[in-house]
Amino acid sequence: PESKLPALGTTIFTQMSALAQAHQAINLSQGFPDFDGPRYLQTRLAHHVAEGANQYAPMTGVAPLREAIADKTAALYGYRPDATREVTVTAGATEALYAAITALVRPGDEVICFDPSYDSYAPAIQLAGGVLKRQALQPPQFRVDWAHFATLLSEKTRLVILNTPHNPSATVWQKADFAALWQAIAAHDIFVLSDEVYEHICFAPQGHASVLSHPQLRERAIAVSSFGKTYHMTGWKVGYCVAPAALSAEVRKVHQYLTFSVNTPAQLALADMLREQPEHYRELPDFYRARRDRFVQALAASRFEILPCEGTYFLLADYSAISDLDDVSFCTWLTTEVGVAAIPLSVFCADPFPHKLIRLCFAKQEATLDAAAARLVAL
Ligand code: PMP
Ligand code: GLN
Repeated sequence: PESKLPALGTTIFTQMSALAQAHQAINLSQGFPDFDGPRYLQTRLAHHVAEGANQYAPMTGVAPLREAIADKTAALYGYRPDATREVTVTAGATEALYAAITALVRPGDEVICFDPSYDSYAPAIQLAGGVLKRQALQPPQFRVDWAHFATLLSEKTRLVILNTPHNPSATVWQKADFAALWQAIAAHDIFVLSDEVYEHICFAPQGHASVLSHPQLRERAIAVSSFGKTYHMTGWKVGYCVAPAALSAEVRKVHQYLTFSVNTPAQLALADMLREQPEHYRELPDFYRARRDRFVQALAASRFEILPCEGTYFLLADYSAISDLDDVSFCTWLTTEVGVAAIPLSVFCADPFPHKLIRLCFAKQEATLDAAAARLVAL
């Protein structure tokens, strides 16, 4: 059949993890921990299964989880969404992003995103008939040039997609960035999709800036998060979005026919976890900072130049001093010949991305990081 996505291949994450496995390389490519999530969460899942919570959850998510999300949002971002009308539980952040884009983007609508950008946004926009306008951000700061951003706006602009802490650059937005975004779009009828799946993995002294803390922006925003990152359980695939009631209603129209509802016992276990062990997410920056610092220190002896990491569990490394290969070829070589799998950055960009940067995931045990660093230092 004629493809609706003719240019699209298999995601880089699937490709690189497969290559890592085939060559028994240490896999620092696809972002997932090589350690388990909290024992408490696992026992709560078993508990709810044993209690018979095994039928369909409500379409919008189980009430205790929506309430716990509303409480957490209030505690962290100074704004309490209505748990009934403004919080929707989804099958990972991926579903929330897809449902939000599908609900909002009409044929011919323009969507602005910032490159490098996470790879699930563009196909969803394309399937909705939208037109993607990409603003390229430059390393090492990856800061938005707001004067240039303003030139991308038109009467067709429908949606802006941002991601903070940012995968793959590991930079974070500050309150001033949200203020600048608001200033740019206030006079236009534009929505904001804020991908905040790494909200609890932020090392910046001022902490994570959420779109939900901005009183005007949050009236037009869908904020997306995921428990996979927070609880080291990427395989559970439970995420959520927070948006004003009218926007949530539109997202739910898509969600109810995309997945209808999400794994019931996992939702109940996550509600217990959020309520009973809030210290887990509060301590997460320290937990990951220690891993980041250990890995950075080990790589100091290498010829890689390591870029600053303010958030996420990814580190960018510049390999200019080691190789002239383009980043895709370099990552293939690194996986097959050196035994360390990484992600090339150019795959997240529409324009040619001439920089020699790779992304390394440090959500790994110390032994894994040390073993990988030893191979990288030898180059
Ligand atoms: N957005 C970003 C920026 C991500 O890095 C990821 C996953 N790594 C997702 C969305 C998807 O999250 P989930 O696994 O919960 O679907
Ligand atoms: N988001 C994860 C990453 O950036 C991968 C998710 C996936 O494999 N689809 O590595």
